[in-house]
Amino acid sequence: MFDDDELLPISALQHLIYCERQCVLIHAERTWIDNCQTARGDHFHKRVDVQEQESRGDRFIARSVSTVSRQLGITGIADVVEFHRAAVDRRGAHLRGREGRWCPYPVEYKVGRPKAHHADVVQLCAHALCLEEQLDVEVSEGALYYGSTRRRSVVRFDAALRRLTGDATRRLRSLLATRATPLAVFGNKCKGCSLLPACLPNADRSAIQYVARELQRLGSKKDPG
Ligand code: SF4
Repeated sequence: MFDDDELLPISALQHLIYCERQCVLIHAERTWIDNCQTARGDHFHKRVDVQEQESRGDRFIARSVSTVSRQLGITGIADVVEFHRAAVDRRGAHLRGREGRWCPYPVEYKVGRPKAHHADVVQLCAHALCLEEQLDVEVSEGALYYGSTRRRSVVRFDAALRRLTGDATRRLRSLLATRATPLAVFGNKCKGCSLLPACLPNADRSAIQYVARELQRLGSKKDPG
């Protein structure tokens, strides 16, 4: 079990999966640069966060919900948690001030479109694992809402995704504990990375190539005797 001062932010899991160097730059070196995408994301989230909590029939919607798992040592704020009234044959959670039992259904809002990497589903699953621990109920499903497509994509929290999320959490803890920043590896991911001006993945590579060329040149000038 982890104490308060050992909890890691769930947002760091997303950064870890996107790029381990980005994760260390943000969460250990405290580097952050806003770009268009982060600004759009902030605006999008502000619109989500300011809305009131509401009830719709057998559904109660809570926004900006604090989540924590002391077993995994992670914490965060879930964009939205819908609570669906539990069917008679399902176990649900008791909620203060509400009658009956309720099943949590986390929903994360994303400004862009669905991505090839697993960062979004791992973040959503991390919130689900926290809710399970906090409310002592199973959370089997949630959803990602993408602003570009204006569609929800349902995510099942199966054994493989739970394992991936647990592995990412352990990797995050060990990476941040080493305090070593991974070297930059330039790739497609860099084009959308807000840290590109600070990270300079191309400059790193050209500097390494420059040093290698200079060493070669100096070596070839040496008197063979
Ligand atoms: S610019 Fe590329 S290598 Fe550097 S932090 Fe961003 S994604 Fe990672």
